[in-house]
Amino acid sequence: METKTRVLKEVSSISEMKAISQSFRKQNLTIGLVPTMGCLHEGHLNLVKKSLKTCDRTVVSIFVNPTQFGPNEDLDTYPRQLQSDIEKLEEVGVNILFHPSKKEMYPKDYKTYIQVQDITEHLCGNSRPNLFKGVSTVVLKLFNIVQPHNAYFGEKDWQQLAVIEALVEDLNLDVVLKRVPIVREADGLAMSSRNRYLSPQERQTALSLSRSLQEARDKIRQGTTSAKTISDSIRQGLSGIEGLEIDYISICDPKDFKKKEQICDRTLIALAVKVGPSRLIDNCIIEEI
Ligand code: AMP
Repeated sequence: METKTRVLKEVSSISEMKAISQSFRKQNLTIGLVPTMGCLHEGHLNLVKKSLKTCDRTVVSIFVNPTQFGPNEDLDTYPRQLQSDIEKLEEVGVNILFHPSKKEMYPKDYKTYIQVQDITEHLCGNSRPNLFKGVSTVVLKLFNIVQPHNAYFGEKDWQQLAVIEALVEDLNLDVVLKRVPIVREADGLAMSSRNRYLSPQERQTALSLSRSLQEARDKIRQGTTSAKTISDSIRQGLSGIEGLEIDYISICDPKDFKKKEQICDRTLIALAVKVGPSRLIDNCIIEEI
């Protein structure tokens, strides 16, 4: 493996990014890509560190992708902190920050979208109809622009990972996806850029997400196998909490997201709630019992 440089290069043009990646590939350097929407936290940096460990060059993209937001969602208020993101990326030794403008990624008259079927009809796809069409489109564009050997995604967005896995498989893309476990705050809250919207009280309320998952795990470990019993008890716990609105509680197959009646083999428990201004998600996997 080649020695790594420690200077962060900022790139906002697609043609420049492509030229850099082509030159890396010509030199037989492996490229790792970490796609993000910025406002970086330890969850993102953990993906970055995985890439830095195994790839010769690491590209982090920061792009708040407008096509994945619905008309009443938080595109305009989504937290943006480019300067402090740059400092974090420099500190860990990332090579390239790709941060294109909206116009660069979606010029006037842009018309092409990717639609992964079936698995996008459940969970977040049901609550946010534009989400996965926008995610699939932007991720395919990023893969074409950056030409990574490896791309790193977090299991915090479990369904998003499944959608991207389908995209890579179905469209025969030459990129290896690397799954990275959820990074949590010390008290259990899954790290998220959207946590910054939370007031101290809302942050306390948000903790009920990871707490519910932990309680569900404990019940399953003690022998409960009925998905309805687990789901009802999560619902009961969450619905009493002031300032929290349940979007979904899903106990399902971790690959196709179809609802499960019995928790017998690998099962995903996925939650989405609204706390104050933030829509928060969390999940856990129950391994075969
Ligand atoms: P985002 O900037 O929210 O679009 O996230 C960019 C990438 O970071 C996605 O692959 C996310 O799944 C991942 N990610 C975000 N938060 C976490 C976390 N707490 N733990 C692990 N991965 C995360």
